[in-house]
Amino acid sequence: HAKVNGRNQLCFYTPAMSRDLVRRREIEAELRAAIIKNELSIFFQPIVDLETGKIRTFEALVRWFHPQKGELKPDEFIPVAEETGVIVTLGNWITAQAAKACAAWPEDVTLAVNLSPMQIKAPGAALGILTALRDAGLAPSRLELEVTESLFLDDNHATNSFIEELSAAGVRFALDDFGTGYSSLSYIHKYPFKKIKVDRSFVSGPNVGRKSDAIIRAVAELGTTLEMEIVAEGLETVEQVKAVREAGCTLGQGYYFSRAVPDYLAAMLLAQEREGEYCRAEAQRKT
Ligand code: C2E
Ligand code: MG
Ligand code: MG
Ligand code: MG
Repeated sequence: HAKVNGRNQLCFYTPAMSRDLVRRREIEAELRAAIIKNELSIFFQPIVDLETGKIRTFEALVRWFHPQKGELKPDEFIPVAEETGVIVTLGNWITAQAAKACAAWPEDVTLAVNLSPMQIKAPGAALGILTALRDAGLAPSRLELEVTESLFLDDNHATNSFIEELSAAGVRFALDDFGTGYSSLSYIHKYPFKKIKVDRSFVSGPNVGRKSDAIIRAVAELGTTLEMEIVAEGLETVEQVKAVREAGCTLGQGYYFSRAVPDYLAAMLLAQEREGEYCRAEAQRKT
């Protein structure tokens, strides 16, 4: 059969698409149970100070270890969770778990949690986050919420009061995947972002070159002027680390430093730092 989609184009279902649809429906049905069955876990990826090599933040990234399908990445199930509304329950669980892990780290290490627009617009969203922090014994100033520009597409009251309420409590906000959405400067102007995460498509891949470098430099310049930190995402090589630092980024994240790891390994990375062993010390600027 044919279906007219939102852009007024005809699209025909193929066997591959219906397989995809079946898989999504399966994921939808299983996701609700997965939390209770303990199949989900939170991994943590370090965000590193490009000047000193110290871990400043861990970003919480959810993983689903499915008994039959194996490890599922968020890109496969977060969109389904968003479509079905399960993201609200799932998101509350993620924030609570991640906050507990962060409470065990040294006080100067912060936690970054990704939030979907639907979580932010749900009734009582801000209070839910503050409650999770209180239960974990984590100061609001140690939490940073990563949102993408899609949040502002339908600029509504709920978003504004969520950001206002949490900012007043000391929670910080980061603009994630910058450069892939509408990249409107008005969001940066209007909202109190402390951090901009430049999408990894500007750091590696087929389109990286003189232009992407100029864009990173411009964003970094903006960051310096507006006192925001600029994170380069997706750093995989020492050359990339050096290039983004040279371009003015203050923080970096990527497989070069570490993949997302379970909480006990995150704690181990921090313990190694206390022994003076920084991850990928060779990438640091020599003084
Ligand atoms: P994101 O927030 O932009 O997270 C960064 C993604 O890039 C992660 O993928 C991370 O593993 C990956 N990454 C980090 N360094 C590198 C690198 O050097 N090279 C490459 N190729 N990739 C790198 P992941 O964990 O698969 O998550 C994908 C997306 O799913 C996230 O993008 C975020 O938008 C969403 N997500 C993940 N966890 C959560 C969550 O707890 N809640 C919500 N709402 N969304 C989440
Ligand atoms: Mg993120
Ligand atoms: Mg990102
Ligand atoms: Mg992303």
